[in-house]
Amino acid sequence: MSLLPECFSSQCAFRNSRLGFDQTNIQERQGSIHYLQCLLPCCDAIWSADEFEPEVDVEQCLLLNEIPRCPYCGGTARPNVLMRGDRQWLEHRQADQAARLSTWLTRVKKPVVIEIGADNVNSSLRGYSSLIAHDYSARLVRINPRNSSVPTNLDVGLGSGAKFALTEIDRLIQSG
Ligand SMILES: [Zn+2]
Repeated sequence: MSLLPECFSSQCAFRNSRLGFDQTNIQERQGSIHYLQCLLPCCDAIWSADEFEPEVDVEQCLLLNEIPRCPYCGGTARPNVLMRGDRQWLEHRQADQAARLSTWLTRVKKPVVIEIGADNVNSSLRGYSSLIAHDYSARLVRINPRNSSVPTNLDVGLGSGAKFALTEIDRLIQSG
C-alpha cells in the first residue's frame, strides 16, 4: 500500500481537489470548494459543484459565466467553505467527516498526524494537529519548508516541500 494517492501528479485533474483519496476518509475542516450551498441558506442542502465550470478572466479576476444557482430557491449558490465571520456556512458535511475521523481515531493504535504546509504557528490547523496528537497519543510529522519545528522530541519536523517529503516517506515505507 502506498502513502501517496494514485494521482499525485501535476497533470492530474484531481490535484488540487480530491487528490484521489476516498471521500469518506478525509476531513475538510473548513469545508470544500467542490461543494455548494445556498447563499441564504434557504435549506440545509449541500451539493457537488461538479456541474459548475467557472469561466474566469484571470487578468480581470472576473467570473464570465452565470453564477451557480441554488436548485431549491433559485437564489445564488456559494462554495461550502467557511469564511471569516461566516454565519451562513452549513457545517453538517464537515461535522459528519469529523465524526468519522473521531470514530476511526478511537479504533487505531499509534496514529500519526501528517501536517502539511501549515505556515502560521498560531493557525487553527497547527492547533488541530497538536490537539489530535495530544488527545490520541499520536506522533506528529510536520512538513513545512519554512517552519518545521515540532512540540516534542517524539515528533518529526521535515523542512522540505510536501511532494518531496511524501515521496521520500513513501519510498522508505516501500523499502521496509
Ligand atoms: Zn436556496
